[in-house]
Amino acid sequence: MSKVGFIGLGVMGTPMAAHLAGAGHDVSGFDLSADALAKLTAAGGRAASDVADAVAEAEVVVTMLPDHPQVEQVVLAAGGVLDVVKPGTLLADMSTIRPETSIAVAKAGGAKGIRVLDAPVSGGQAGAEQAALSIMVGGEAEDFEAASPIFEVLGKTIVHVGPHGAGQVVKAANQLVVGGIYGLVAEAIVLLEASGVDAGTGLEVLAGGLAGSRILELKRKSMVARQFQPGFRIDLHHKDMGIALAAARQADVALPLTGLVAQLVAAGRAMGHGSLDHSALLKVVEELSGREG
Ligand code: NAD
Repeated sequence: MSKVGFIGLGVMGTPMAAHLAGAGHDVSGFDLSADALAKLTAAGGRAASDVADAVAEAEVVVTMLPDHPQVEQVVLAAGGVLDVVKPGTLLADMSTIRPETSIAVAKAGGAKGIRVLDAPVSGGQAGAEQAALSIMVGGEAEDFEAASPIFEVLGKTIVHVGPHGAGQVVKAANQLVVGGIYGLVAEAIVLLEASGVDAGTGLEVLAGGLAGSRILELKRKSMVARQFQPGFRIDLHHKDMGIALAAARQADVALPLTGLVAQLVAAGRAMGHGSLDHSALLKVVEELSGREG
């Protein structure tokens, strides 16, 4: 069992840290929210007073933060993780951020003898709560091996996908597929309803055929019922579409559908739906046809 420092106890981090504590790891966590710290204590972890306090004794540090500025603040800034932990410590950044920041963090960590992995996840809140996440890991193979006992507590599909930053590129690919499928399911609902066909019944058939997907399986009922509490917020998906488009530019490729989906997600945010679940892309698609669910 390891001493784990866990920074970022939000929608995802709270259940993840609780699973690690439940598996017998010695978890010290920190978040800006007092509520989040109380949940960690209730799950058997220790609420630290700041980042340094959470990670000072850690053998493994896990970060689960919103975006790259928060990772830079927590990991790279003076008094942050790299300033505090001992050489040899393993840092798994499980946030979804741009690949170049993951590479920069790995380089800065390497200079201090700290082993860094980018390990973003897919599976959403349900995946975090059920310890069934998919984890895509970039970094050195031996560091991946060393971190595997931690990842195995959190997820079911755990794959080393390449060097530093590769985990984030795989996550960007994941997010463009997820966004695209949400957009198309939204269009299917609008078409069915506008044609006078019951959308719930129609999507049930789709879910059992070639169009079937995890999104149709897990989200079709809540979408038809217009239940959009997050889950995964439109604001975070907007960030991820930006990461995907920047990665495409970096790789010199054109991703036209990703560009279109990114604009729909941006519209959702501009319409004031940033705090809703990303399935609220339905509201944007409905608006385009002058319809309201
Ligand atoms: P969240 O906003 O619920 O949680 C982030 C937490 O980080 C918050 O509790 C916040 O208080 C804390 N935080 C921010 N700055 C901090 C700082 N300087 N020090 C300490 N704590 C700080 O976000 P989330 O939904 O848990 O997502 C976290 C990451 O995981 C994001 O990168 C997101 O894109 C990714 N992700 C989310 C989901 C999902 O379904 N929610 C799924 C897969 C991946």
